[in-house]
Amino acid sequence: MKKILFVVIAVTLLGCKKDEKSNNKLNVVTTTTMITDLVKNIGGDNINLQGLMGSGVDPHLYKASEGDVTKLVNADIIFYNGLHLEGKLVEVFEKMERNGKTPIALTHVIDKSTLIGSDYFASNYDPHVWFNIDYFISFGSEVSRVLQEKDPENAQLYEENWQNYYKRLLSLKADITLKIEELPKEKRVLVTAHDAFNYFGRSYNFEVVGLQGLSTATEAGVQDVQKLSAFIIEKGIKAIFVESSVPKRTIEALQAAVKSKGHNVEIGGTLYSDALGNTGTNEGTYIGMFEYNVNTIVNALK
Ligand SMILES: [Zn+2]
Repeated sequence: MKKILFVVIAVTLLGCKKDEKSNNKLNVVTTTTMITDLVKNIGGDNINLQGLMGSGVDPHLYKASEGDVTKLVNADIIFYNGLHLEGKLVEVFEKMERNGKTPIALTHVIDKSTLIGSDYFASNYDPHVWFNIDYFISFGSEVSRVLQEKDPENAQLYEENWQNYYKRLLSLKADITLKIEELPKEKRVLVTAHDAFNYFGRSYNFEVVGLQGLSTATEAGVQDVQKLSAFIIEKGIKAIFVESSVPKRTIEALQAAVKSKGHNVEIGGTLYSDALGNTGTNEGTYIGMFEYNVNTIVNALK
């Protein structure tokens, strides 16, 4: 009787395993929503794609659940941002590497000397690189290369998908540049909850000030709020911004501090910083998110 039960369980387990690997598609696991969207555009229906982080999830604070670990263990390829963006997953990834599976940090393709330095992260670099579209393009080219290498049968398809998406990213770049030109240089000051927008600032000549520093793991102090409110008044800044993956209260405290000094600053809207919007919406894609952010910023600061 025991023997039969064992066979039944074994068959059931084998059955599950086969289902997960349906049609021998590559199992690809990604971390942030930006990377998930990128890989979806290149892999299409040819891969089984599982993104660990959802909309509104803060990658600095994200911890792997037991289910995530199972997904990671069963993955053929793992793509993540790196530079300690996914600070709490570093240990999991290091452990996997010791066991012979190498997750791919997409930032490894970027020339480090072009990155913005930072003392906040163990990597010594600001990890929010997707706000430079050229860096995101180099992510895409790496994803395409890896998929073609791991699944040569479908190489042409991945290449075609990538070329199509690459063209869309180039036209995004052109559209964004045009929109930002509506904003005079002296109005290009971006105040947000945390410093996610340094690469954006460097690309489009914005002065960027984050209330919380680079990682959301550290809270803003009363001193920071006082200093920054004085800066907003001095510069005559019209609007400051909330972020979708960071609690509103820090920016609301800043707005209150400006008010208490007899001035007014609007909350210009919610920006998507470290996570995209809901799946199925325009802001749930990298391109839609970028357009939305830039429209929100330009319209509020004009
Ligand atoms: Zn961040």
